[in-house]
Amino acid sequence: MTFSELGLAEPLLKALASKNYETPTPIQAQAIPPLLEGRDLCGIAQTGTGKTAAFALPSLDYFHRNPKPVMRHGCRMLVLSPTRELAAQIADSFRTYARFMKISVATIFGGVPINRQIRQMQEGVDVLVATPGRLLDLIDQRAFTLSGVEIFVLDEADQMMDMGFIAPLKRIVKMLPKQRQNLFFSATMPKEIADLGNQFLHDPVKVSV
Ligand code: AMP
Repeated sequence: MTFSELGLAEPLLKALASKNYETPTPIQAQAIPPLLEGRDLCGIAQTGTGKTAAFALPSLDYFHRNPKPVMRHGCRMLVLSPTRELAAQIADSFRTYARFMKISVATIFGGVPINRQIRQMQEGVDVLVATPGRLLDLIDQRAFTLSGVEIFVLDEADQMMDMGFIAPLKRIVKMLPKQRQNLFFSATMPKEIADLGNQFLHDPVKVSV
């Protein structure tokens, strides 16, 4: 199978070709077709499997097909990540795959002054990759709104739970618009993680690699 057989848009195929990525990894082959159809997804996959592209490529394809100005203080896609390092890596991947598109990508995480992040969010952004605590700080300061989110990704759910992010996460999920696509990834899927996913996933496609 090739990426063009998956039906991805031309600027994405160009970006993949420039990285010399020819064949989708197993999680990409399983996840991309249902995600392109707008389905929710529950994935058991670890870092290193090509998971980031599995959710970045169909989302960017959706933005290519459905262009729309971003809302001030808002985003069209929210990716929650447990750590600053992972958030930065995910954002870098999005920038790479979107290099032939007009898509803005930003990260929000704790441990750095908040004021620059508040200013950065004024004009809004297409894709926001955030850690839960700092995102809530911005929302509580009325510097950010989740009302424009069309695609929501929860990455590394098990790590998120280990780090005590469940309460912030539930607050965030409550603020998301009802109509949206949900993606849920975890390296492991014990019952408590599956239960967490079931709280916001709608008839998800299940993939495991
Ligand atoms: P991830 O699991 O998302 O952290 O990705 C692991 C690594 O594999 C990253 O360095 C990606 O850039 C790379 N990668 C993702 N998809 C592919 C692919 N289809 N072919 C070759 N490398 C890939």
